[in-house]
Amino acid sequence: MKVLIAPNAGFCFGVRRAIDMAQRAASERGRVYSLGPLIHNRQAVEALREQGVEPADELDEVPPSSTVMIRTHGAGPEVYAAIQERGQPLLDSTCPFVMRAHTAASRFHQEGYQVLVLGDREHPESQGIVAHTGGAATIVSDPIEADGLRLGVHVAVVCQTTQRLENLLSLVNRVLPRVQELRVANTICDATAQRQHASESLAVEVDVTIVVGGYHSANTRRLAEICAETGTPTHHIETADELDPAWVSDAGVVGVTAGASTPDEAIRAVAEAIAAIGGPGSEIVTPSDAASEEA
Ligand code: SF4
Repeated sequence: MKVLIAPNAGFCFGVRRAIDMAQRAASERGRVYSLGPLIHNRQAVEALREQGVEPADELDEVPPSSTVMIRTHGAGPEVYAAIQERGQPLLDSTCPFVMRAHTAASRFHQEGYQVLVLGDREHPESQGIVAHTGGAATIVSDPIEADGLRLGVHVAVVCQTTQRLENLLSLVNRVLPRVQELRVANTICDATAQRQHASESLAVEVDVTIVVGGYHSANTRRLAEICAETGTPTHHIETADELDPAWVSDAGVVGVTAGASTPDEAIRAVAEAIAAIGGPGSEIVTPSDAASEEA
């Protein structure tokens, strides 16, 4: 059996940067508190906790004078104001791609546009984008929802970084015929698009795809959808022990991909567990192996 690991699987630039910032701050200043788990991966959150990075659900849970960390998803201006009012040190790891969405939404709102945010309604990133319009923007979780919205004359669209380009184009197609002016900020992040394309290409090549990552991770769930849409049987798991041998035992080639918040060790553990099911002679091919074969 061959186990192919997708290029770009695992931590993206934004998550790596946030983890580095948190680890450095914890070692220099003592315990830091992230507002919500730093990444959508239980195992990684536990490992970080042991290193002094503690998730807190609310600002009130953070001890006075401790460092408060804003995670990659970002936060609304009211959160920054509350931290400042309490006089607590701030560590801001908002991903620069998310900041781009904040800036676009805020600018459109100030210029008088009706702002639509294409994104998951419950996701903190979408809610943070809305907060940067003073709560005026409307979240559209599916382009079809736009059909039921009252639209003004001047409309602008911003999207959650993990959205698919097809979704954004579909929203544009639905809104454009109904308005005089439509402005669109393509705030989908490159890391997401690259991971999605690599996973889709992998899924069409293999017999089964295993997607590794937190069940709460929007970008991991999206990867699982994309892989499944290719018609290749696809399973989303968090850890190697959730792997059902029946999924892969008859496969010649198994693809493994992972969301932006999945640690390298978790990906490796899943690939090794699959290879063990395949038995002697199974091999794991990493993106660097594949690149050197092609060179
Ligand atoms: S997926 Fe993109 S936007 Fe989200 S943290 Fe990673 S690099 Fe930033």
